[in-house]
Amino acid sequence: MAHPTQPETRRSRRERALASAPLPTRRELRARTQARAARSGRRHPPSVYLRRRLIVGGAAVLVVAGMVSGATGIASLVSGSDSAADGSAAVASGEAATGMPRATVLPAPAQTAVPLGADGTEAEAAPGGGALCDLPAFREALDSGSDADAIAAAGGAEAFRSAVASGGAPCIDLHAADRTWVVVNKQNALDPIDYWPEPQARAEGVERTSGGHMRADVAAALSQLVSAARDEGAGEIGVNSGFRSYDLQVATYRDYVGQLGQANADLTSARPGHSEHQTGLAVDVVACDDGCGTIEGFGGTPQSDWVAANAHRFGFIVRYGDGDTATTGYEYEPWHLRYIGPELAGAYASGGYRTLEDFFGMPPAPDYAD
Ligand SMILES: [Zn+2]
Repeated sequence: MAHPTQPETRRSRRERALASAPLPTRRELRARTQARAARSGRRHPPSVYLRRRLIVGGAAVLVVAGMVSGATGIASLVSGSDSAADGSAAVASGEAATGMPRATVLPAPAQTAVPLGADGTEAEAAPGGGALCDLPAFREALDSGSDADAIAAAGGAEAFRSAVASGGAPCIDLHAADRTWVVVNKQNALDPIDYWPEPQARAEGVERTSGGHMRADVAAALSQLVSAARDEGAGEIGVNSGFRSYDLQVATYRDYVGQLGQANADLTSARPGHSEHQTGLAVDVVACDDGCGTIEGFGGTPQSDWVAANAHRFGFIVRYGDGDTATTGYEYEPWHLRYIGPELAGAYASGGYRTLEDFFGMPPAPDYAD
């Protein structure tokens, strides 16, 4: 793990200071968002991954539609890995790069009998691949907004994951900011880019060193996690940082760049619109034995070992693993937990996955496109 270094200590102190600043009100956020929109006059473009999935998914639907139906199973895994995406991502400040393509302009599905993989070669059609999105019960559960209901209607978390990873479930949007399965990384910005999760709450009965807000369902799950860790002898776990707004991330990232230079800042701090903390699904935790420690001091503690082995029981994963920088784009962060819900987290753990990108068959996202 990354042991504390001088710049990290400075970053940690600065991050805590920023995280403990009062959250802006909804009214203030809207005013800032409107001002930003007026300055830039644009939306962020769709990611290459999204466009690619729509192409592959559309082709898969054509194939499935041409087959005699009756498929009731969900797709089995077909390798969805391919080369790193090379398209544009949202810019950091929201004040540059006009004339970007709009999210509504998408290429037509490839008119081919066999779906093409991202590298242009023929991809094996998953059995029943596009059928999931044609199942009324699944669409109804998906449209209801209940992630758990949608996963259950898909036949469980592994069936859901497999359908997504095979490219055969184009109705499942991995970019929707309010879904527990959202994938936010250097190649995939939040949609909308100034997303603000509601309702928010603090985790009851949990120590904190900052404002510590997060999505209310995540806060409830974290309370259970912290309580279980205590009961099972791992010690006390506290919250260092939860939800961070787009505007707070602007300040945070700008500060890192000023201190470390852009290349080093990008290894530890997300550009605005690319942070999991903005979803309300991410939380940085610390060990609170005799007062709460720092995030850099979390690795190697009994709490960290317990979290690595048990977080999935409560719906969390350690998002940025040791040795996974080539996929995630971030250094090892044993303190950064990401909520994906207990169903998906169970499949993630039992499948031995190390990154959310691999879990959903997405390309690695080590760098920003620009
Ligand atoms: Zn974090």
